[in-house]
Amino acid sequence: MAANKCLEEKLLLLGARKGVEARSFTSFRIGGEVGFFAEPRNADELAELMSAAKCCGYPIYVIGNGTNLLVSDDGVDALFIRIGSRMSAYSFNETTVSAEAGALLCTVAKASVAAGLGGMEWAAGIPGTIGGAVAMNAGAYGGEIKQILRRVTYVSNGRLITKRVCGNELSYRKSPFAWPDAIVVSAEFELNKDDGGAAARMEDYNIRRRTKQPLEFPSAGSTFKRPKDRYAGALIEEAGLKGKRIGGAMVSPKHAGFIVNCGGATFEDVCELMAFVQKTVFDMSGVLLEPEVKIVR
Ligand SMILES: Cc1cc2nc3c(=O)[nH]c(=O)nc-3n(C[C@H](O)[C@H](O)[C@H](O)COP(=O)(O)OP(=O)(O)OC[C@H]3O[C@@H](n4cnc5c(N)ncnc54)[C@H](O)[C@@H]3O)c2cc1C
Repeated sequence: MAANKCLEEKLLLLGARKGVEARSFTSFRIGGEVGFFAEPRNADELAELMSAAKCCGYPIYVIGNGTNLLVSDDGVDALFIRIGSRMSAYSFNETTVSAEAGALLCTVAKASVAAGLGGMEWAAGIPGTIGGAVAMNAGAYGGEIKQILRRVTYVSNGRLITKRVCGNELSYRKSPFAWPDAIVVSAEFELNKDDGGAAARMEDYNIRRRTKQPLEFPSAGSTFKRPKDRYAGALIEEAGLKGKRIGGAMVSPKHAGFIVNCGGATFEDVCELMAFVQKTVFDMSGVLLEPEVKIVR
């Protein structure tokens, strides 16, 4: 549905912008114009934006750094609310890290190592926000958000709630603290004192990323979730799909788990390539790959 004049005026007064293309706020660099784009500075501004849109039945989509998103080239008629750099404060108290949802996970991870803490070094190369990481239960190199997450403050049904979290509420790339059920506003993590090896581990993980992942091309990270006891990248490689290209979208020759935008890829190019990969891998191995990337249309 299109926003009516009254809603448009309200959203513009609240600092929302029109004419923003998804390619400008997603790491895939793909996607057309969204209805409105807003970046609140605090939970109150977030609540005002939400209630303005909700009153008129206008759709909302909450995002972080846009590093796990594939948005349609036709655009999306919705209010995109980015919990980003305007809500990105973080602090340390002994072994506890508190961070607003818009802080970058990699920034907080690096700062935690610099503060003499261990337990978050695996996250230093993940380009999302704290909110996106909690929503996705982001993880790498054996580490996962759920191992360290202790408390989440989130908005649900218009209420601001702070909840102590026990890790098993989250599972592989799945979390109850994710849009549309919840909007993460801040989170608290429990780390441990550095055993002396955190900086070296972080450096090792970063080197592994730079050598193995196609960081030189726009992407949304791993395209598919890891199937049980298998690796998506290995299955795609075994199916002979490294370098497979549709339009501007390509299965990375460096890491088959990534579909990259190697120049001018459209939403359709990526969707077609994802479907082709799923079918080919399924025909060869019987494994149905499930997208990790969130498709927004
Ligand atoms: C080069 C590269 C490497 C990557 N490596 C990894 C990796 O090693 N491990 C890994 O797990 N991921 C990886 N990713 C994927 C991505 O960075 C993570 O999924 C990250 O957690 C997404 O965070 P984001 O802020 O960008 O979220 P977005 O992409 O903006 O959103 C992702 C989802 O989270 C929801 N969401 C975002 N913010 C909030 C919020 N505040 N409250 C509620 N819901 C919210 C959105 O609605 C959406 O459904 C990689 C991506 C890239 C581009």
